[in-house]
Amino acid sequence: MCGIVAYVGPRLAYPILIKGLHRLEYRGYDSAGICLLNGELKVWKCKGKVSELEKYIEGEKLEGTIGMAHTRWATHGEPNQINAHPHYSQSKHLSIIHNGIIENYLVLRKELQQRGFTFTSDTDTEVLIHLIEDIQQNENVAVEEAVRIALTQVIGAYAIVVLSQDNPDKIIAARKGSPMVIGIGEDEFFVASDATPIIEYTNNVVFMNDEEIAIIERHQELKMRTVRNQERTPYIQKLEMSLTAIEKGGFPHFMLKEIFEQPRSILDSMRGRLHLDQDTVTLGGIRDYLPKILNAERIIITACGTSWHAGLVGEYIIEDLARIPVEVEYSSEFRYRNPVISEKDVIIAISQSGETADTLAAIELAKSKGATVLGICNVVGSSIARATHAGVYTHAGPEIGVASTKAFTAQVVVLTLMGLLLAEKKGTLPESYLHKLRLELGIIPSKVEKILQRADKIKDIATIYKDSTNALYLGRGYNFPVALEGALKLKEISYIHAEGYPAAEMKHGPIALIDKNMPVVFIAPKRGIYEKVITNIEEVRARKGNIIAIITEGDESVRKLADHCIEIPDTEEMLIPLLATIPLQLLSYYVAVMRGCNVDQPRNLAKSVTVE
Ligand code: GLU
Repeated sequence: MCGIVAYVGPRLAYPILIKGLHRLEYRGYDSAGICLLNGELKVWKCKGKVSELEKYIEGEKLEGTIGMAHTRWATHGEPNQINAHPHYSQSKHLSIIHNGIIENYLVLRKELQQRGFTFTSDTDTEVLIHLIEDIQQNENVAVEEAVRIALTQVIGAYAIVVLSQDNPDKIIAARKGSPMVIGIGEDEFFVASDATPIIEYTNNVVFMNDEEIAIIERHQELKMRTVRNQERTPYIQKLEMSLTAIEKGGFPHFMLKEIFEQPRSILDSMRGRLHLDQDTVTLGGIRDYLPKILNAERIIITACGTSWHAGLVGEYIIEDLARIPVEVEYSSEFRYRNPVISEKDVIIAISQSGETADTLAAIELAKSKGATVLGICNVVGSSIARATHAGVYTHAGPEIGVASTKAFTAQVVVLTLMGLLLAEKKGTLPESYLHKLRLELGIIPSKVEKILQRADKIKDIATIYKDSTNALYLGRGYNFPVALEGALKLKEISYIHAEGYPAAEMKHGPIALIDKNMPVVFIAPKRGIYEKVITNIEEVRARKGNIIAIITEGDESVRKLADHCIEIPDTEEMLIPLLATIPLQLLSYYVAVMRGCNVDQPRNLAKSVTVE
């Protein structure tokens, strides 16, 4: 959940580390710290964001060409200065940063205390560095070997970096369940939780695998071993990611930039897959598994958060188009509830980061029951991309804002392409209808563009409702997941309590909440069971709720009933989520900015949830 960055090479480490931390801050940000090795290991750390660390450290002598840094998202112990990383070993000859959870830390801690180790923090991480030191002292082994032995005793998830005062050119990194990338430059190495802090310096990267330990030393080749002590040859890949893709590019926030990137990101997720000239869809990543999917008795989509909402849209699309039964499960429930899974099932795991711990566990469970597991991820080379049998990347580009926007629409595009492909192969629908859908999908980016041009109108509506304390989002059919996603976006970044409901369910409870202070957002385009939604709008109106409606361009019926309308272009019913979500993202964004919230890094949230 946290961000890790480390450097060794000819340059001063501090500027590289601090810049890297800023790029990783979206991953977790309750405290931050840095360690430089220059004769001795020096640690500076404090509560708060990376900018607080910069202030805290001002005026210090920040020398050294090797170092590491961390932004924490606390799991064990309060977010305060003492619990912030890096942590020293008892002798202060070693230091560690860690992402993840050491599950057996209490047992290890007790044993170490009995052997004379004292603990300064409440973290699970401190246990690990004392354990490494204990092993190093008792067994008289090199630091990398001590790390390896220690990791054989650890239960849990980790990405760690260890520095040793006695090894002034050496970084030890290891991972299990938390991501870690190594960048290889000219006589220099970078280590980070993702490629964003590295890309500025080199395109040559190695994505570490679980249970691998990297021994990174200046003037030496990169060496890797497994925790079980087997040698590994590092697989060096060329990364295709541009620096502009991870910078704000003139927007005040990443989130706004990412919302406005959607015409392009949607196009990118269809590129090379939707062939309008040949009237077909191809998905190279799952080609070999197509027969299996076509014969599946059932598809289970598993995901968390926004990806789960994309999964719900996917359920409707795949059932509609391919007539294969689909279930959508929260990964955290699925993994623990003893689900019935067979070899005939196909599981689709969706995750922007590809690191979501619960989804990874759900994948392992499904694989152990013999099911075919496919992934839909945004981050190339991520754990889920590697743990699944096959998959489709969303190609939305790096998403930095914690609240997901462009990754969601890209996930929906990929699920739509899957539905179209399966329908084409199964022959479930007339070709003329599929043709129409493909054409319509192809012009979705231009329709998104049109909605974005109405941002100012949405901003005006946000001004009116910025001080609300609650909000309801209602939609039916394909627009029910859109309502859930709209409500989630609002609560994530503005801290306004918001609920999404199927519009007809309102009568079974939430209607009790409606009064003149309650904004109710209806997703009410002129498709599907539009008339029924109008009835629901009337019901809210009768109770004096304030109605904000997402409507089809030119629709006068809802306009007469609603207090505010946001128009979206008309499209095929199943493609509406790709359009209707956009104004809801903008509405949440503007409300949050007007409330003075930090939209890119909302409180308590982290971008990639690598803990369960
Ligand atoms: N479990 C560790 C802690 O609470 C690391 C958390 C993180 O991944 O930031 O300090």
